Amino acid sequence: MGGHGVIQRYREFLPVSQDTCIISLNEGNTPLIESHNLVQALGGGFRLFIKYEGLNPTASFKDRGMTLAVTKAVEKDVRAIVCASTGNTSASAAAYASRAGLTCVVLIPEGKISYGKMAQALIHGAKTIEVRGNFDEALELVRELGLRDDIEIVNSINPFRIQGQKTAAFEVCDDLGASPDMHFLPVGNAGNITSYWMGYKEYKDAERIESLPVMMGWQAEGAAPIVRGEIVDAPETVATAIRIGNPASWQLAIEASEESSGAIDSVTDEEILDAHRMLARTEGVFVEPASAAGIAGIVKSNARGEIPQGSTVVVTVTGHGLKDPAIAIDNSAARSVVVEPDLESVLNAIGVQ
Ligand SMILES: *Cc1c(COP(=O)(O)O)cnc(C)c1O
Repeated sequence: MGGHGVIQRYREFLPVSQDTCIISLNEGNTPLIESHNLVQALGGGFRLFIKYEGLNPTASFKDRGMTLAVTKAVEKDVRAIVCASTGNTSASAAAYASRAGLTCVVLIPEGKISYGKMAQALIHGAKTIEVRGNFDEALELVRELGLRDDIEIVNSINPFRIQGQKTAAFEVCDDLGASPDMHFLPVGNAGNITSYWMGYKEYKDAERIESLPVMMGWQAEGAAPIVRGEIVDAPETVATAIRIGNPASWQLAIEASEESSGAIDSVTDEEILDAHRMLARTEGVFVEPASAAGIAGIVKSNARGEIPQGSTVVVTVTGHGLKDPAIAIDNSAARSVVVEPDLESVLNAIGVQ
């Protein structure tokens, strides 16, 4: 049985019964870290809290939805789960399938997922198939595979993924004792912004919070179909986890931004990489590039004067930095140096005499 994951913690808000056999890796309950240095560096007059989703079992928020999707797949007695992935969905699916004793099939765009994410799919024994095409093409193939009744799709078109992910909004409210005023996050397939908005609204209906936040979603400029209002055929960005040209939850994301008086906007790769480095340097929080899109969004909104003085702002950082070590090394201002093994050489390298 399920330990202390998000299904047990929030089962009254989720489609499970007393008899459901929960498949969990104790996901969720991630830290909400108050920023001091970053918010000061930005000259902001607001409080900023970082929801550090990289500390989930497979190092991204995808685990919150996967625990429920795999639990329901087991309940339905399927043999295999399948997903298309830019990396984190496949990492999560592979781990939860192992836990459940299911076969996992993952379709990923050839050569486009990071080393850490590939390692996760392989070590958990997923049938890992690289498709000569982009994510959107891989998802089309998955939709066709999902027509078979012995295979369950665990992409965010599976409604249980969205249901499970909404628990992050509950945790934010439980930790703050209230709803934040604004919530920033990256947008790829737009499942997560949909989930948070659903979670906040359900918590308000249940009278756990009194107000709702303004939802601020951020796409990468080279993969910004929602901002541009049209499908992007060849999405391109350093932030591979949001390299999506035709988001599955496109309409729901627009609803979340409009109903909350928020916005969906874009940031450049340069802004994303600056935010990636700045967050690690100022707060000690290491994320993958896609996760930095929400931070870049805060920098941009703050510069435009869109964040009211005295407000409480939450930003979700979606995945851990160790997912993509190559990018982190490239994007570091620092370089390592090699010296002879004597004290003088070391002191020289430090820059003291
Ligand atoms: C999946 C993912 C996203 C995008 O989330 P969507 O629900 O697809 O909008 C952002 N960052 C990371 C690290 C992810 O794994």
